[in-house]
Amino acid sequence: MKIPEKLEVAGIVYTLEDVSPDHPELDHGRLRASQVESKAKMYFRNTIEGDVRGQAFTHEMVHAVMDSLGISMCDVTIDERFVESFSQILYQVLKQL
Ligand SMILES: [Zn+2]
Repeated sequence: MKIPEKLEVAGIVYTLEDVSPDHPELDHGRLRASQVESKAKMYFRNTIEGDVRGQAFTHEMVHAVMDSLGISMCDVTIDERFVESFSQILYQVLKQL
């Protein structure tokens, strides 16, 4: 999968940025990636590559779509379970294109 430098989701142009694993936006090493709608940024651990990177990108993209639909953060645990399972299937499908 080709991962872009920028990604537009519902009018918000996210800039993708590689950061060190201990970056605050990665919760100081707990996360492999994150996205912040208010900053229009997606952050990725600079040590991930290949399918791990593709899956992380798809995961953050699904978060961005959910944010644009206003259906995020009803329950963080449910959100993460849905986003992770949905993005894994979506990534598997996108890889075939
Ligand atoms: Zn997530």
